[in-house]
Amino acid sequence: MQNSILDKFTKEALDAARASNTYRTMRLLESPEAAHIELHTAIEGAPRHQILLASNSYLDLANIGELKQAMAEAVLEWGTGSGGARLTTGNKIPHEALEAEIAKFKGEEAAITFNTGYMANVGTISALCGKNDFIFSDELNHASIIDGIRLSRAKCFVYKHNDMADLERAIADAKKAFLETAREQSAENFRGLIVTDAVFSMDGDLANLPELLQITKKHEVLLMIDEAHATGVLGRTGRGLAEHYGCAHADITLGTLSKAVAAEGGFVAGKQQLIDFLRNKARSFIFTTAMAPAVAASAHNNLKFIEAHPERVQQLQDNVKFFCERLRSEGLNVPTSPSAIIPIVIGDEAKAMHISEALQKEGLLIPAIRYPTVAKGAARLRASLMATHTRKDLEFAAKKIISAINNPVSSLRGT
Ligand code: PMP
Repeated sequence: MQNSILDKFTKEALDAARASNTYRTMRLLESPEAAHIELHTAIEGAPRHQILLASNSYLDLANIGELKQAMAEAVLEWGTGSGGARLTTGNKIPHEALEAEIAKFKGEEAAITFNTGYMANVGTISALCGKNDFIFSDELNHASIIDGIRLSRAKCFVYKHNDMADLERAIADAKKAFLETAREQSAENFRGLIVTDAVFSMDGDLANLPELLQITKKHEVLLMIDEAHATGVLGRTGRGLAEHYGCAHADITLGTLSKAVAAEGGFVAGKQQLIDFLRNKARSFIFTTAMAPAVAASAHNNLKFIEAHPERVQQLQDNVKFFCERLRSEGLNVPTSPSAIIPIVIGDEAKAMHISEALQKEGLLIPAIRYPTVAKGAARLRASLMATHTRKDLEFAAKKIISAINNPVSSLRGT
């Protein structure tokens, strides 16, 4: 009886996902995250050993001996778990030390950490905005931004991707709607927030921070950027989008500790009062157990490592430049973005899948990203690079990608 009710709740959705080729499964890695991995592969004929061009661990810090040792020592000192929420007993010395380090790294007054970047977005947006507020969101923003907006119940205006004219149009429309529905209010009471990824996770392109700053000033609205894929990647020392452009910071800078920093957690950095506000109001900060102190200590150590080793950031940026130029020289239309995410657009969903599988047989793990993650007919290989990929790795990858794209028939054969 119980089972048939459960079936009703789940079966239809799963059947629909299978029918539309969007049923999700997980790949299993039999080695730690690194530039070279051992993969438990489901593809016949594919070797276990693969070059990984699919990681968010851009600086490849997860396996550095001294960083692993520091985390192990933090476990021995602080135990396995935090035992409470930050506002009860969970707040330990490593949490506060990490937040001070993030503030320093980002050049802000203060910072607050969340257990994940997802929770940082959801908690921050829903704390800052309510149903009388207006949010302007880039159409390619990450799911955690979208979920934060939904939770806030604010009125959301989605603007065309990176289209500043469309953003200004949306702000004008929202102001008009505000004045029409609340005649007793003046325009000064209008509260708006622009929110955008700093690096877009499926396209690898950048938000135009200098122009966004001008627009926020002109229209007197707030700006929040999500530096999940920018922290440790962009700017001479990996500080992110503002360092890349050499411009001022957004009002609210959010990021994750799980990608280039190679630990776990999310953060917001900004003015002290913003951080005090989030500590008081962000529900995904308040109503959850604090991250394990050893995770905080690990994120802290890894961040300090990035500060001490700007050459590692440079190495990543050099790899991106080399790889993109190599692909471009063979006629592939690869965008000119300095981020470590490189989309190679194939178009057709089945073709992208087949090319990705053919590459896996050659020992290269580059996932195909399809609808609904990206638009229909815009399926792509999504390559992401690490600082430790060697020129030999990248040369090999470029050769195999070009050959698989130019000879789709042979890459389809046997799949
Ligand atoms: N924002 C963006 C742009 C992301 O790509 C991600 C992770 N894919 C997140 C937020 C969430 O970060 P976390 O993995 O730490 O939850």
